[in-house]
Amino acid sequence: MKEKFLGVDVSNYTYDQLKKNIMTDINEHRKSFIVAINPEKILQAQKDADLLHLLNTATYQIPDGVGILIASRMTGGTIRERVTGIDMLLALCEQASLHGKSVFLYGAKPGVAEKASHRLKEMYPDLKIAGIIDGYEKDQDHIKDTINQAKPDIVFVALGSPRQEYWIVDHMEEMDAKVFQGVGGSFDVLSGRVKRAPAVFQKVGLEWLYRLIKEPWRIKRQIKLPTFLLKVLKTKK
Ligand code: UDP
Repeated sequence: MKEKFLGVDVSNYTYDQLKKNIMTDINEHRKSFIVAINPEKILQAQKDADLLHLLNTATYQIPDGVGILIASRMTGGTIRERVTGIDMLLALCEQASLHGKSVFLYGAKPGVAEKASHRLKEMYPDLKIAGIIDGYEKDQDHIKDTINQAKPDIVFVALGSPRQEYWIVDHMEEMDAKVFQGVGGSFDVLSGRVKRAPAVFQKVGLEWLYRLIKEPWRIKRQIKLPTFLLKVLKTKK
């Protein structure tokens, strides 16, 4: 089920529902495309009709950002839990390892996805990692052939947004894999190159504050949250 914020669909599924639905999608040979939605992307889509269309094309738009939860409460919606890109990736790796499905890691700087794959294997020893390509490979045919030959069920694409989402819609029909998720900087985090906020910050919804302290330039992105909420409020009847 979906809620709409400024024209952008967001799924109100929890991790458990998503895991179940996506595994069913794989088993029933349906393709699915997962995109993480945050207020910044929704605002960007206000000025970019292609992006708006692209976000709405996805099968599952996960609510990745406290701003979405606030907007959902304000509009009488039911989204109460954040679903982050990286936790969705982990949830899918867990499911893949439990059900004998395989994953492919495409994106990030050379060497980063390898390190991320080692971390994933530590967490899920039974996980089948079908292959890896870094995000700076230019030869599109090579990328497509390598992924198809590896025959993964799930492809994680880490090229940054919205590039990774455009890559997914442009290629998913010609690929055999079933599930495609845009995962942004997740391989950097898994490889240990970039640190995530301590669990306590994540739990109380203050991951943004931790990131702001570590990377003060983020203020430019975070300042957009009040703008987003005001716009949502204005469209509320
Ligand atoms: N990246 C890539 N190829 C490119 C540009 C970027 O693989 O041509 C990778 C980059 O190395 C990083 C990720 O894309 O791993 C972008 O991460 P970021 O945190 O910026 O993602 P976002 O904030 O868009 O989710």
